[in-house]
Amino acid sequence: MNKKRAVVTGGAGFLGSHLCDALLGEGWSVIAVDNLLTGRRANLNHLKNEPAFEFVEQDVCEPFDVGKVDYVFHFASPASPVDYSIHGIETLKVGSLGTFHSLDVAHKNGARFFISSTSECYGDPLEHPQKETYWGHVNPIGPRSVYDEAKRFSEAVTMAYRRYHKVDARIVRIFNTYGPRMQLNDGRVVPNFMKQALRGEDLTVYGDGNQTRSFCYVSDEIDGFMRLAKSDEPLPVNIGNPNEFTILECAKVVLEITGSQSKIRYEPLPQDDPKQRRPDISKARQLLGWEPKIDLATGLRLSLDYFKKAVAEEAAVK
Ligand code: UDP
Repeated sequence: MNKKRAVVTGGAGFLGSHLCDALLGEGWSVIAVDNLLTGRRANLNHLKNEPAFEFVEQDVCEPFDVGKVDYVFHFASPASPVDYSIHGIETLKVGSLGTFHSLDVAHKNGARFFISSTSECYGDPLEHPQKETYWGHVNPIGPRSVYDEAKRFSEAVTMAYRRYHKVDARIVRIFNTYGPRMQLNDGRVVPNFMKQALRGEDLTVYGDGNQTRSFCYVSDEIDGFMRLAKSDEPLPVNIGNPNEFTILECAKVVLEITGSQSKIRYEPLPQDDPKQRRPDISKARQLLGWEPKIDLATGLRLSLDYFKKAVAEEAAVK
């Protein structure tokens, strides 16, 4: 019997590559499409000899065709605040044009569609924790808007294809996820702190460190995606870990796990940095029977070898 085929845009990214692994593990044939703007071939090296896997270097801001597919997972986008501030226009384009093109592939093939959206849709939220019904508090012209509005738009396009073209779509809203394969220099808090702690440098806490985030380990996140992908839910679903930490607390957990003697250094808070972020996951619990299993300390311990290796590799190149 022929395997079912899935295409994953952004398949060389942190989450995209883990998703490829999960799909292959469930017997899918997988095509990863990526223009390698922020994705990395190294994330897919372990699949080099996997016959059910194919990599296509392609920018989904251009129309694309990878043959017959049964599922389209649209994960392409810069996702860290540093990456999307450097690549602001590309971020807007992949959220808009890239989403149209990915939806066109699903529509043409009668395939299911799954889009990675984000808690950034909630902006600097006035409702806490954030339920899927909350419409958000987003600055449409601030530095984060290239990502927030691109993702909000991509949700709107996805819903429109559902309404007008009957594309069978799923929307996941992802909250801060971490784990192996994150880029060491993408500027996000976990890779920054892990890198700084392992090098014995100061941990850079932005603002007073009392802003909060809720960190989800990658295997929990991917488990949530797979459950949602198989469900019939057409509306957005939060997938994230509801355990909320201040950034200062997160720094302390990193210091504990790495055994580092690094100090904390305070730096200015970036503009529009959300003050708090925590998913309400009642919907995922009820609908998918999903909830995260791995707490922050455990997840950081599971990520430690990866970050040690990445730090050593970077030091060897310099
Ligand atoms: N942050 C920090 N130090 C760093 C990197 C980030 O204090 O070296 C803070 C950042 O200001 C934000 C939080 O950590 O409040 C999470 O930032 P990240 O870039 O990981 O993602 P965000 O949730 O803002 O998209």
